[in-house]
Amino acid sequence: MVDGKVVLITGGTRGIGFETARVFLENKAKVIIFGSRQETVDKALKEFQEEGYEIDGYAPNLKDFENICEVVSKIYEKYGRIDVLINNAGISANQKIEDTTAEDFQKIMDLNVNAMFYMIKAVVPYMKKQNDGVILNTSSMVSLYGQPSGVGYPASKFAVNGLTKSLARELGKDNIRVNAVAPGITKTDMVASLPKEMIEPLIQTIPLGRIGEPRDIANAFLFLASDMASYITGTILSVDGAARS
Ligand code: NAD
Repeated sequence: MVDGKVVLITGGTRGIGFETARVFLENKAKVIIFGSRQETVDKALKEFQEEGYEIDGYAPNLKDFENICEVVSKIYEKYGRIDVLINNAGISANQKIEDTTAEDFQKIMDLNVNAMFYMIKAVVPYMKKQNDGVILNTSSMVSLYGQPSGVGYPASKFAVNGLTKSLARELGKDNIRVNAVAPGITKTDMVASLPKEMIEPLIQTIPLGRIGEPRDIANAFLFLASDMASYITGTILSVDGAARS
């Protein structure tokens, strides 16, 4: 479905991003992952290389637009195109508002929103030159329903939907599609760090009776990146087992 496509994935060292890299590799894409530290990038690359895949990885500072541009330009020089950008790096929060500092709120916005904007801004000139590209953003179920604590997280994901829908309208004429996937609770380190008392009751309310696997989300990215989704843009695709909390 994505044979030969050059696919750049942020937050590709573990969880949803790691599994997404695997699914694209299985489908013969040329994959480049970004992670927050070179050691974790190297560890992820080694794991894929031991499975026989060719893959590249970098650890640019996602809070530094210049640094992102340097690395993206290096990737473009090496591969000659950038077909798909998957903006997946993100952090969550669950403190009550009284316990959330201005710095906590800023930290979430810096990664979940500003870094996403920087990545898109760095890649769009190449996609425009190609007159072809797909941008996929990781949103969340909380972007539709909010959540009862950690307000910075849902606020950031509402912003992700805003970037997605607006840029889909702005970039359609350049043949660049922009969509988001909104996962429900998914089995990754992000969820492992949340208290069991918060997760268990949520699972009880999911009509499909289980939490998501990273592969459930990765498959949605694969579909949206492929030509099967060639008339889909500006969509927030829920992958959440119909969870509504
Ligand atoms: P994870 O914690 O397992 O992975 C997060 C990824 O983001 C890692 O690869 C990490 O390297 C990267 N990252 C974190 N901080 C970074 C930084 N400062 N700079 C650069 N990269 C950084 O989490 P995950 O569950 O795989 O989450 C991936 C995405 O999915 C996030 O955007 C998250 O909001 C979203 N999401 C997750 C769930 C869930 O239940 N797991 C639900 C909805 C949405």
